[in-house]
Amino acid sequence: MPRRARLFAIVPAAGRGERFGGRHPKQYAALLGRPVLSWSLGALLAVPSVRAVVVALSEGDRRFARLPEARDPRVRTCRGGARRELSVANALEALYGEARDEDWVMVHDAARPCLHPSDVRQLVAALEGDPVGGLLALPVGDTLKTAGRDGRCDRTVPREGLWRALTPQMFRYGVLRRALRLNLERERVVTDEASAVEALGLRPRLVTGRTDNIKITLPGDRGLAAAILQAGWDNNDENRARLRRSRI
Ligand code: C5P
Repeated sequence: MPRRARLFAIVPAAGRGERFGGRHPKQYAALLGRPVLSWSLGALLAVPSVRAVVVALSEGDRRFARLPEARDPRVRTCRGGARRELSVANALEALYGEARDEDWVMVHDAARPCLHPSDVRQLVAALEGDPVGGLLALPVGDTLKTAGRDGRCDRTVPREGLWRALTPQMFRYGVLRRALRLNLERERVVTDEASAVEALGLRPRLVTGRTDNIKITLPGDRGLAAAILQAGWDNNDENRARLRRSRI
């Protein structure tokens, strides 16, 4: 009988977040009394089937060890890389020998603190038995423009069939490792795991996610994330539990 695939998670958290600015990298910015990264990790750790979470950290990171999640027995760290995909590749190597090719690896940005555990469960359910994997994503709702350097519209891009890629993105360990290695060999820069997998000629499944799974990129995004987490306080049991565990 085939063995049941296990689930591992990777959180690339080695970025500097230059567009965000501020004294700390954005994954350590305070959000309702806890660092952003603490929320993002909490959402993954709320899923019992996640066996281990590997967090890729920049060299000399001294903040991570102070997070309560750093003491969770399922959490480990590895050295990040100069680009996001190199951080993820290092974390995959940290799982080498333990994760089998058919096991699942879920990669989630440290900068997405509003991930709801129900989205994680939905992704896992949608991909059950899938040979490749897929990602949370949202169909594009706005009208899209291409712009010239002068800040004026060049043209309008039809939005039909266009999706915004979110995280988590979840792939079979063997597929993702092969994809990122090939990507490194070809010296291509990718901004998500799915594009590396697509370069293998495979077609990741798009799973519609929640609209509130925002990525903190610009300073104003932090207020939006706080509002999203606080809104969950009253009307959602899981969020209430997460907020109770926070220090506010
Ligand atoms: O900068 P951006 O928002 O695209 O980063 C997405 C995620 O990748 C963040 O969680 C960031 O910390 C991580 N990252 C990383 N190593 C890098 C660059 C980004 O782990 N060298």
